[in-house]
Amino acid sequence: MSRTTRSLWIALGALLFTSLSSPAHAGHDNKSFDPDNRKQAVKGFNLTTKGKGAMEWGKEQLERSVITTSWGGGDIEVHDYKTTGVTWAAQTRCKNWNALWTSCDVFTIQFNTAHHHTDFQWLTMGCHEFGHTADLGHRKASNDTDNNSCMRSTTAAHYKFDKHDLNAIKAGT
Ligand SMILES: [Zn+2]
Repeated sequence: MSRTTRSLWIALGALLFTSLSSPAHAGHDNKSFDPDNRKQAVKGFNLTTKGKGAMEWGKEQLERSVITTSWGGGDIEVHDYKTTGVTWAAQTRCKNWNALWTSCDVFTIQFNTAHHHTDFQWLTMGCHEFGHTADLGHRKASNDTDNNSCMRSTTAAHYKFDKHDLNAIKAGT
């Protein structure tokens, strides 16, 4: 794998660690944020063509799960802008928590355009970050032996959720 590609995925790994160490984090069963419900409205802001494609793909992947999506504001906000001097290529954060800070009302996904991505990586990142909005944490080789999940922090990551991811979304949201 190329050096650039390698640093991309290491960055995604570091991101999860950041979200896990947040004191506000409270998950059902997985390792990311719980959405506050199973209806998620998605909106893009100033996206490049590639970022828009990644958003559309991530939304489509959520549709395969128990989560229903629509276009519009209020649940998942997607931006791509440049943040230099950092190693992460994309991140998902909770912008607005619910009153008890147990689930997330509004998510922010950022694709970092300071990094170069292949078309395939854009799709994988879209799937990956939208997965974090559905409470999915990272998968490892040991529990993704058929290498078909986008939630891996490796270049072997697939561009879709696998069956295990879809079941985890059902169990965790
Ligand atoms: Zn991640």
